[in-house]
Amino acid sequence: MGSIAVLGADVVNKIAAGEVIERPASVVKELVENSLDAGAREIRVDVEEGGRKLVRVTDDGGGMPPDEIPLAFAPHATSKLATADDLFRVSTFGFRGEALASIGSVSRVRIASRTARGEGAEMVVENGEASTVRPAAAAPGTIVEMRNLFHSVPVRRKFLRSVEIETEHVQDTVARFAVSHPDVRFELWVDGQQRHALPPSDRRTRIGVFYGTELAEALREAETKQFHAFFAPPQYSRVSAKAIWFFLNGRFIRDRVLLRGLNEAYREMIPHGRYPVAFVFLTLPASEVDVNVHPTKVEVRFRSVWKLHDQIAATLRGKLVGSDLAVRVAPGALPQEPGQARAVVDFFTRGPGEPPVLELPTAAARPLVTTGRRVFQLHNRYLVEEVDDGLRVIDQHALHERIMLEEFRKQYAAAAIARQRLLLPAVVELSKAQRARLDDGRELLESFGIETDDFGPGAVAVRAVPALLADHDPVTLLTDFLDLTGEADPELPLLECALEFLACRAAVKFGKKLSEEEIARLLEDAAALDYSASCAHGRPTAIKLTLTDLERFFQR
Ligand code: ADP
Ligand code: MG
Repeated sequence: MGSIAVLGADVVNKIAAGEVIERPASVVKELVENSLDAGAREIRVDVEEGGRKLVRVTDDGGGMPPDEIPLAFAPHATSKLATADDLFRVSTFGFRGEALASIGSVSRVRIASRTARGEGAEMVVENGEASTVRPAAAAPGTIVEMRNLFHSVPVRRKFLRSVEIETEHVQDTVARFAVSHPDVRFELWVDGQQRHALPPSDRRTRIGVFYGTELAEALREAETKQFHAFFAPPQYSRVSAKAIWFFLNGRFIRDRVLLRGLNEAYREMIPHGRYPVAFVFLTLPASEVDVNVHPTKVEVRFRSVWKLHDQIAATLRGKLVGSDLAVRVAPGALPQEPGQARAVVDFFTRGPGEPPVLELPTAAARPLVTTGRRVFQLHNRYLVEEVDDGLRVIDQHALHERIMLEEFRKQYAAAAIARQRLLLPAVVELSKAQRARLDDGRELLESFGIETDDFGPGAVAVRAVPALLADHDPVTLLTDFLDLTGEADPELPLLECALEFLACRAAVKFGKKLSEEEIARLLEDAAALDYSASCAHGRPTAIKLTLTDLERFFQR
């Protein structure tokens, strides 16, 4: 170990940059935030090579006088905060004065700016070294142009993903601003081509740009003092939580508790492993939140987050249950007794292709031919099995998912996921993003038994699917799989995610009536596994009550 020394400014900035600047999209985020803070009404974002080569943000905001430009790059230089108390009433995106200094320490940045009445000026900062300020012709507003991200930090450069994936992150970032600031005009240019030109409009229209007009039109709305939510009916659910966006005072945030509140609103309306689509805009006084707890401010601390959780859950659920059930279930099928409500919920947890059947299960417990033990299915969800010293309640989906996971693992390890060739290939139109992911991961896909061929521009034909999923819709299978690979956490092994995904799909649904043969087969397969095991998602598959437990309970 060396002796203790105070780090130089350059090292300090590079460390800070590591926290704020993760990838080109983070640069886009910081620069667009500065433009919005400067009151811009029009913001143009240009990226080349996914932003590795170039990120340029042009705005028509208030600009800076020439003598302030060098200050903008100095660490902890900000025009938005003066005292520590101000921290608790910030209404701007920025306030730490960290972003430009960080970006300037890990790339080459040129900034040109002009206030409405002043002269234009420009300056260049490269790897922390600043040029002098020169006069320059510039329109009122600011242009910040960043080139060669992480050029001087090769370690960081290695962590960047493919151009397509980095472009997708940039597009996601712009989409979030576009949706939260519908009154601002946004343009996104990718490699010299215009990808979006969004005139001022409203939130719903902007959501439609990124998620399609059909979904946008189907969105329900709920408004309270604290939030304004747009949320899709349950049948629009997706494989990941990526289409759940929370904004706090215009800032995109992530919050586990709020996410829970949202999922709670959709409880039992969406199959396990899928997530709703929702956009929630929270408006709270600055004193109710602390935004200074995370480097990129994507996580915040609320004063009373559980209250918000409950409000979101109750308000949205009220609207979902009130309207959806009434509209989508034929009047005669509406529940007459409390117990029947669950059967109605079953209707919603069925897949798109399955017929909507309402049935109330009360089969008698009959001994299985194979084991001789008595078993019955409870509410099309659980199996209740009599065992030597008591009884076992099994979650049918969780148990089957677990069995399927082992099966897929085995097949994958033997490099032989059994596949079923389709008689008629299924043709799928892919979005640009999905297309990029397909190109990125076609080999991976094939190793899982999903074979595709190009089919004209923008489309592919699915030729084979995993045999265990032969009765699934190949189109949904492919698109969900592509969405999954795009949304998977890069830190998590993709292989494990993919196997879990297939297992979840192949498993019998919660809510599906099983024949006696199916129940016998399930329990036989399970016998080969350890019963204490959990399902693919880590939940338990069964609980056991022993006779001793029952005796204790009944105080015998
Ligand atoms: P912060 O946003 O936290 O203040 P930044 O490093 O992002 O820190 O920016 C430093 C300062 O540079 C800002 O406070 C602002 O005064 C000025 N600035 C940066 N970008 C712009 C812009 N697009 N228009 C006008 N001023 C800007
Ligand atoms: Mg800033």
